[in-house]
Parts: sequence; structure tokens; C-alpha cells
Amino acid sequence: MKMRSYYLGELTWPDVKEFLAVHDVIVVPVGSCEQHGPHLPIDTDAYDAFWLSLKAAEKAKCALVAPTIYYGVSSHHMDFPGTVTISPHILEQLAYEVAHSLVKHDFKKMVFENGHGGNTPALQSAAQRIMMDTEAFVAIDTVSLIPDFIEKSIQTSYDAHAGEFETSTTLANREDFVIKERIKKPKITLPKSKYTKIGLKESGPKVSWSFRTKEISETGVIGDPTKASKKKGETAWKLAIERLADLLTELDRMKS
Ligand SMILES: [Zn+2]
Repeated sequence: MKMRSYYLGELTWPDVKEFLAVHDVIVVPVGSCEQHGPHLPIDTDAYDAFWLSLKAAEKAKCALVAPTIYYGVSSHHMDFPGTVTISPHILEQLAYEVAHSLVKHDFKKMVFENGHGGNTPALQSAAQRIMMDTEAFVAIDTVSLIPDFIEKSIQTSYDAHAGEFETSTTLANREDFVIKERIKKPKITLPKSKYTKIGLKESGPKVSWSFRTKEISETGVIGDPTKASKKKGETAWKLAIERLADLLTELDRMKS
């Protein structure tokens, strides 16, 4: 349905009531406040999660976007100034209570659009509790809608943070905030085991492991931002918006 805005924060309660008479889908963006190397803004994950959510909701016209959860689990970046971290159980409880409030108003299907990998375990725990306590449907997307793009277009195998992918996507949605003269390939020290892989692209046999970013990279960049381009970012966003909008449309049709 046509709305003045698909951002909950810009609507009035009668607008939300009217929307809920027809639809029951909502996106909750989740971000972080953490270093993104010397060349990208600290709020990259939060900004991107909201930006993508709103573009997709505007396209699908059957879902609203809640205000962003702006802080996340970023303890591994705490060696870099500006980073703020909250404990996993705090994020879990916050996500749970936000979702619980929304379900109370009859949003029955929800997507946590998550911009930061470190948040995923806490969001999964919250999602399980919401499902048990309310029977609402909860999905989580952490850059998981475009694996084909990443496989084909991202060249750096260990690209994980402020590297080729995130520098490309920021060039495409907030170019003025990329400090281009600081884009450099960092020296990366990865652990020796072939099972301790890192990055958006790495598949195959692997274990999950905890690390401090500073021990892997002096600059906080994990990946190679010199391989980034605005064009790659635009392709990634176009596909991500299409697929998230498609997911929202399918959720809208799904019986609750
Ligand atoms: Zn990020």
C-alpha cells in the first residue's frame, strides 16, 4: 500500500494502524558503531542496514522499517578509537524487546536486516525466543542474500571488513564519506590453520573462531580496498534491494 514514508519513525500512530489493517511485515535494521579502517565511517554497518532496508521497503510497499538498533557486538574492534561495543546478551535482549513490542501491535513477520557479522549469534538467540514466545516469524539477513555476486565479483578471498566489498558499497551509497587517499592494501596476518578462514567469500571446511582485529591488521581493514569500485557497489546494492524486496513480498503473502 502507498505510504507517505515506509520508515516507522516518520509515521503517526494512525498511519501505522492503517498499515497494519492490510500488512504485517516489518524490518528491523541492526548495525554497529565500530572502526571501518582509516577510510570508511564508523557508522557504516548501521547506515547501510537502514539504507538497504528502506530502499527494499519502498520497492515492496508491503513492509515498514523500524528505527535502527545502532550499537552492536564489536569487542574485536575495541583497539581502535571510536568503537563502542555492547555485550551479546544486551543486544539479544534489546532485539527481543524491540521485536516483542512490534509483535504486540500485530507485526507478525519480521526481518532483522543486520549489517554486522558480530551481531549474528545474539540475533539468532533473540529470534528463537521471539518464535517460542510469540509465534511471530523472524528472519535474519547478514549479507546473505547475494552470495552469487560476492563469489563472482569480489576478488579478495579473505575480504571481511572495510575491504573490497564494503568500500565498494560505500562508494555507491555515500561516496563523499570515503576518504580515497587513505585507501591502501593492509598487511594481513591470518592464523596458520587452513580451517580458520575469514571473509564473506570463504566456503569449504572451516571452524568459527574469535579474534582481535588488531592482531590480523594494523589498520583495521581486513580485505583489499584497492580493488573496490563504485560500479561493484552499485551492482551489489541493486541485487540486494531486489532480493530483500522480494523476500518482503513473499513474507507479506505468507499466511500468519
Ligand atoms: Zn561493516
